Parts: sequence; C-alpha cells; structure tokens
Amino acid sequence: MSTKRRKFKTEVQHLLNLVIHSLYTNREIFLRELISNASDAIDRARFESLSDNSILENDPDWKITIRTDKDAKTITISDNGIGMNPEEVDKNIGTIASSGTRYFLEQMEKADGQLTPELIGQFGVGFYSAFMVADKVTVITRRAGDPANATRWESTGSGSYTVAETTKDKRGTDVVLHLKDDMTEYLDEWKIRQVVKKYSDFVEHPVTMDVTREEKVDDEGDKTKTVVKEETLNSQKAIWARPRNEITQEEYSEFYKHVSHDFQDPLKVIHWNVEGATEFRALLFLPEKAPFDFFTQSDNQSRGIQLYVKRVFITDNCEALVPSYLRFLRGVVDSSDLPLNISRETLQEEKVIRIIRKNLIKKVLDTLEEVKDKDRDQYVTFWKEFGKVLKEGIHLDLGNRERLQHITLFESSKTDAGSFTSMDDYIERMPEEQEAIYYITGESRELLEQSPLLEAFRKHEIEVLLMTDPVDEWVVQSMTSYQDKPLKSIAKGDIDVDAIGKDEEEIKEAKEKTEKQYKQLIAFFKDTLKDKVKDIKLSQRLTDSPCCLVSDEADMGVHMEKILKALHKDLPPTKRILEINPQHPLLKTMNSLIKNEKKHYKAEEYAELLYDQALLTANLPLEDPLTFAKRVSQIMASEGSMLSDKK
Ligand code: ADP
Repeated sequence: MSTKRRKFKTEVQHLLNLVIHSLYTNREIFLRELISNASDAIDRARFESLSDNSILENDPDWKITIRTDKDAKTITISDNGIGMNPEEVDKNIGTIASSGTRYFLEQMEKADGQLTPELIGQFGVGFYSAFMVADKVTVITRRAGDPANATRWESTGSGSYTVAETTKDKRGTDVVLHLKDDMTEYLDEWKIRQVVKKYSDFVEHPVTMDVTREEKVDDEGDKTKTVVKEETLNSQKAIWARPRNEITQEEYSEFYKHVSHDFQDPLKVIHWNVEGATEFRALLFLPEKAPFDFFTQSDNQSRGIQLYVKRVFITDNCEALVPSYLRFLRGVVDSSDLPLNISRETLQEEKVIRIIRKNLIKKVLDTLEEVKDKDRDQYVTFWKEFGKVLKEGIHLDLGNRERLQHITLFESSKTDAGSFTSMDDYIERMPEEQEAIYYITGESRELLEQSPLLEAFRKHEIEVLLMTDPVDEWVVQSMTSYQDKPLKSIAKGDIDVDAIGKDEEEIKEAKEKTEKQYKQLIAFFKDTLKDKVKDIKLSQRLTDSPCCLVSDEADMGVHMEKILKALHKDLPPTKRILEINPQHPLLKTMNSLIKNEKKHYKAEEYAELLYDQALLTANLPLEDPLTFAKRVSQIMASEGSMLSDKK
C-alpha cells in the first residue's frame, strides 16, 4: 500500500495558517461544521439510495457518531453517508477553488489581517475549521457502493497532506481529530453534549455518542457497575415542522447557519405553512450579506433552497422552485404532496412545484413589502445587498411587475447619496401638474449629477430618479409606467421642463417663435455636423450649458450603448441628437452673426467643438481627440493674441 505526499496549494496553506493562528474565539464551531458535512453526506447517500438500493450495503440506519479516546486524545466524527472516492478526497479537501481563496485572502487584507467569523462563513472553510482544535486530522472515507476503494487522508495542516489506500468495512467517512494539548475539553462528554445541543440540535439524523454511566447493580445495595450506552444527543426535530411560537431566534439563527453555511445571523426569517389542496411548509431566510461568490457564480441560481419531501432531503437544485430573481433566499421547503422517489428531471414539470413557487413568491414579496413599510433601515440593508437581483424580476416576471416596482428603491436627485426613495414616495412628492416619472441612467451618481441634462430639472425642482446599477438599463425597459404614470428618460426624446403645468398653446407659440429665430443657425449646424448627428434641436432642458446630446426616443441610450460596447467591441455607434441652448450667449452670438450673413470664419470649428463638448459631458469618448486638442489650443492662442492686441 503506497502513501503519497501532496502539497496543499499555496493559497490553501495560507488560509490554513490563518485558520490555525488567527481564529481564537468560537473554536467550538468546528463540531458544527463537521456534523453539517456529515449530515450533507447522509442526505446525498439517502437520495442516491432512493434509485439504487444497493448503496445501503445492509446498513440502512443513517447516523452520525461521535467517539472520543482519552488516551490518544482524539475525537472522531463518523457518518455512514456518501463518502468520497480517492479523486474526490483530493478535490474536496486537498484544494479549495483557488479563485475563492484569492478573494478570501484579499478580503482579509482589506480587514487588516483580521479573520472574522463572518469572513470564514462567507468563504466556507468548513472542514478546515478542524485545524482550530487539532494538530493532526485523519480522514478515512469510502464511497457508498464501492467497497474496494477506501482512502486515508492525513495532515498536520502545515504544507502537505498524505493520501493512502486503506480498507473500511462500512461506507461513509470518519474524521479523526488529534486534539491540541489545550483543546482536550472536547473529550468531555458534557462539553460535546453542550456544543451539539447548541449548534446541531435540529440536524435531522441522530448524532450519537457512547456514554459511560455508573449504574446500581440492584435496587437495594450500593454496588454499581460501569455501563456504556449509546445516546442520541440531538432532538432531531425538523425546525420547520415545529410551531412558530415555540422556536427561539437563536434556534432559527443556528438553523440558518446550518443550511446557508453563513456565520452571520439572518436578516429576516420567513416561516409559514400552507394547508389545503397543496400542503407544504417552508422556512426561508433573507441573508444580511451575499456569499462572496454570489455575484460571480452562474450556477448559484437555485442552490439556496433545499427541497424536502416528507422530511427527506431531495435536492438543493430545483430551478423550478424559485425564480432566479429570488436566488438570495436560503432555507427549506418541505412538501408532502410529492412522491419520494421523484427524479430531479421530472421535478421541474411537477404541478405541485409550480403551485409552491407561486405561493413562495407571494409570501416573499408580502414579507419584503412589510419590511419596507415597517422597518425601513432593515429594508435598505437588504436592498443595498440584493436590490439589483430583486429588480431583475421587473423584467422577468410580468405578473408581479407592479408589486416589484412597488418595493424597488432608487436614489434620486432629491435624496442624499446612499439614500433611497420608492416610486410611491416619488409620486407623493410630484407636483400635481407633473405627469411623468423622470429618470436617468448612468455609471455613478457623481457623473449623473454633473450631467447638463439635469439642469432644467434642478431649476424647476423636478425630481429625477438616478439609476446607476448596470442592471437598471435593462430593467427600465420593462418599466414603461408605474401607477399609470409613464416613466420617461430625461436623456431621450423631447423634454420640456418649462412647459410643465403651463398652457400648451402658449408654449407651442413661444417654441415656434424661437425656432423661427434660430432657423438659420440650426440649418448651419445640420450642415456642418451632418455625418455625426441624427438631428439638431433647440433644447428645453438646458439652462447653463450650451449643448447636450440626447437619444431619439426609440434608440439605445448612451449608458446602454456603453454596456453593450464593453461586450461587443464592434458595435456601431448610435447617432444622437445634438440639442443647443438658445439662451446661451455663445449660441445667441453665433445666431445673430449667421442671420446677418456675417458668419465667423471659424464658425464650423465652433460647431465641431460644441459637438465634442457634448460628447464629453455625456461621458462618451471623443471621435478625434487630436483635432479637438488642436482646436482648443488655437482658440486659446487667438484669445491670447486678442487680449494682447487690446492692451
Ligand atoms: P463545504 O461543506 O462548505 O462544501 P468543506 O470544506 O466543509 O466545505 O467541505 C468540502 C467538501 O468536502 C464538501 O463539499 C464535500 O464534498 C466534502 N466532504 C466534507 N466532509 C465530508 C463527509 N463527511 N462526507 C463526504 N464528503 C465530505
């Protein structure tokens, strides 16, 4: 039998050093982590056994066993779950997905080397927590249904681990912890009992231990004998099946940590049952923080919710159970209306699943609405973390669009940075004569606040929603209206803030008058910039700036174009409308010169420069930066010579 020594990946080693040397508080959670792993392994074996009875190997009673050896100073956690084959051992406990590790280490650096439990939780170093209490860990494991291939893995946590073939009678995994000298309290029965009760009471499978007791030999005499009895340490009560009023917050929190592998308490618990034609119980949690890989992993769509049938774990990967825009939810759904031997494939088509999904969406949206109305701070915490996910629903779930819009928050020109408004509150504040809900999309609040497009809105104190999540650009396409008020981008189409609440005829007349006055100037701009812009219009949205670029109502917005361009480099640019400000002194002068046929010899260059300026203020790249720079310096030079001429 050969023993192979392998090195941990450098990052794993780094991580292990941190776990071993930095995490002093809460070391007892190692037991919770190992029991959770054992319980997951049993769930998987039990599920496989539904279709392949042979993996039971005449050992049908699922069980997690804790054994201690006071002389050897070891504590062993055993399970008769799925076990691991040699490749799985290497993959699962020899390496950690290196991108995750790197992320974790970066976060550590940001936190000045502080390894907080929250960080560990986000990262999920579950198994490695064994090294907080042990100076050597031995794993003996064998895959269910494969009696010939058992593996012995061992490591002191410093640099390398060994793997060797071994034999093991029963399927499953034994994790043997050789306790550090100052960690021997974990050999005591009372301590183990206390930790199991605290963290793993609801684990569905029995966690047992051999307990030694002195028992009287007979009723009368004082003579005793030592007996060893196997005891189950946890109550195994499925927490979701218990009445709500009997469950403490601590119990909910511990259960949440068990299912989510998070170390923090949940933000909100949602526990309900449905009786009637379709019956199920659900215990869901809104996490406070997203796991570190939540926004980068594409396969976390449905992994948050475990589906049970009559308290038997079926899968944590049932896409049909929750819509993707609620993928931040964690917890359990337990149905009594599905057959136990259901396959994962047919699950998706089950009518019961569709009914549960519908009910679940309703319940979660009800809860979110309630939190929003009753505890705004809590809702904002949630929103900052998961708002961009929830918003996807506006695009994806037509039936719940209005409800989702109701609980969506935005920053606006009237909120402070980092504060939010709902669309209902926006409507509340709207002056009576304002008909539309105005918004603008862009990369950041700072950039948007500088946009000339906001000038007239600011002057008239009309509120504008500032949409700065990349997803907003996509979501807003489905938000054409809310409460019968149209949503209108202030960067698109015609907008006349001055006209709000005024007499239409009067406005029309005034507009026609100005247009007449500026007819020649507009024609001149059109002629000069004909290859670059779609149209030239007089602006009703500018006060101080001479010009700005806007998109035609049906065209792609500037921000959208930028997002798409990042993905498809060869996307042709969209031509936009250049709006010029008839109130601006420069344009007034240009207009009067042109009208009197005294066009300045540099007028074309000025038009080009104004167009370039509009590109810049729209945060778009210049088409020809060199020519732009040349023109600016020429103008500066001529301005200079004019000044010196005057002297
Ligand atoms: P996590 O449980 O969060 O995935 P761990 O570091 O605790 O992370 O475990 C890594 C992997 O090792 C698990 O995902 C599982 O595949 C495997 N593993 C750990 N413990 C056991 C066990 N008792 N039985 C079978 N597989 C296990």
